[in-house]
Amino acid sequence: MARTKTKPNPYQPQIEALRKKQNELLDSFERDKAAGNALPDDGIQDLADKAASAYSKELNFSLSDGERNLLMLIDEAFNRVKEGNFGTCTNCGNVIGEKRLTAVPWSPYCIDCQELQEKGLLA
Ligand SMILES: [Zn+2]
Repeated sequence: MARTKTKPNPYQPQIEALRKKQNELLDSFERDKAAGNALPDDGIQDLADKAASAYSKELNFSLSDGERNLLMLIDEAFNRVKEGNFGTCTNCGNVIGEKRLTAVPWSPYCIDCQELQEKGLLA
């Protein structure tokens, strides 16, 4: 199959998965927010806000660090979709394997760079 410009994004299933995951996270955030409306706006939120500059203060309200981190990764993945380099490792530029992208569509790294990152060897 030749690649043409009119072809839809070959990563459509992964992009759909990203969207779904994002909705899931935002849904649970909305539920938590509704349940915890009485919580005061305190200093803890400010600290979290500084740590997560890319995301709105609202989202720091109830999501765990892991969920917030995941949302940011998903957000960055959508940016890569827009820029046309989704599916490419942001560190080394290699193509991220399709299996890996299906399992973790928000991953910015290929498997090799992910290992480096987990060992703390990635800047
Ligand atoms: Zn890489």
